[in-house]
Amino acid sequence: MRVLRDVLCAAFAAVFFASVASASEIGSRNAARSTWDVHETISLLAAACIKWPAKPDNCQPQPRSILDLVAQDNEKSFGTTTANYYSLASRWSDDPLRMLESGSSTLMLGLTLWNKCDRANKDGPKWDQRGLLCASHFGPLEFLHAQDTLFSDPPTNEVPSAKPQDPASLGLSRERMLQWARFAFRAAVDPSFDAMPYCDAIKDPAFKDIEGSLTPSDSFHCTGKHAFTVARFFSSRCRRFSFHCDDLTKHDPGRYYVRQGGTGAILHLIQDSYSQSHAARLPAGMAPVDADKVFPSLSACQPVATFYDYNAQKTAESETHGNADKPPLIDVSCLQVPRAADDVITASARAIWVLQQAQLPGANLRGLEDELVNDIRGRVLVTR
Ligand SMILES: [Zn+2]
Repeated sequence: MRVLRDVLCAAFAAVFFASVASASEIGSRNAARSTWDVHETISLLAAACIKWPAKPDNCQPQPRSILDLVAQDNEKSFGTTTANYYSLASRWSDDPLRMLESGSSTLMLGLTLWNKCDRANKDGPKWDQRGLLCASHFGPLEFLHAQDTLFSDPPTNEVPSAKPQDPASLGLSRERMLQWARFAFRAAVDPSFDAMPYCDAIKDPAFKDIEGSLTPSDSFHCTGKHAFTVARFFSSRCRRFSFHCDDLTKHDPGRYYVRQGGTGAILHLIQDSYSQSHAARLPAGMAPVDADKVFPSLSACQPVATFYDYNAQKTAESETHGNADKPPLIDVSCLQVPRAADDVITASARAIWVLQQAQLPGANLRGLEDELVNDIRGRVLVTR
């Protein structure tokens, strides 16, 4: 029976994984359903584009740049090269509890998302009540994936809308993503920020539009001896089918995990914004379709016309969202000069370059933070 149950679980997961993976895919080789290492490959190409000391301006990817390199495994996340570091890091928002590192497969991760999150989302509106994994994929923290739960903060709209955003909502979602990039950057580069109590750190006016979404429930450890720090937010590792997590900050004098988590959160946000089922990138005059349609897997250099709410997609046919998370072609709009937005590889490379600058002795961290956010505002999350 055990074998039969496992087979059935695998079959269910294989069917449902596509619909619950709210992101460009992260890779695994799995007998039931292998997934493409899309984020890992983009990060690898981005790291390779940097020719120190110049900041990349255009990595000039060819249409098949990503398609020809992706694999159905997770090999790109291993190894000790700089490029491998960014490959592994860019998985973080899809796997914020590091379940893959604790031995779970992407199949198990998908099954957990499918199986647990429906229930977890009834546990309360706050992210800590739902768990970071479920809250980021379906809940108040969807902006980690360049999607949004519209329209207020914290979101109160219980009926997900499949309609494209109006200009005000689009602008607010974009602002929330920029504030998240700022939060993640500080976590990645600033030890004094990492050490702050989490509940204090989110009160900075720089995070005013995401503060509500980041605010935990009353039972959260905001004060006292066990106060949750910013570093702790990025430093969990959980075993499969369980929200029982190891606190990785306990043995992490080099702040490895928070640096990796913050770095990955920035890359993941940028990269997910090039999935057409997350953010419709369209030329002027072309109207975005509703959220429950099928999207092409095409990484375009067009402005964002709308961000979508994953909750309006997950009830539709399973490939509605997932098709756009498959390995993308680079759109011809990226070959134009000038272009409306950077391509996904250049956008990632420029973020990595700023993060690397921040590691240099005497770096002006606040100046680099503004540089990163201005890059994302002006060259990545361009709106029309
Ligand atoms: Zn994602």
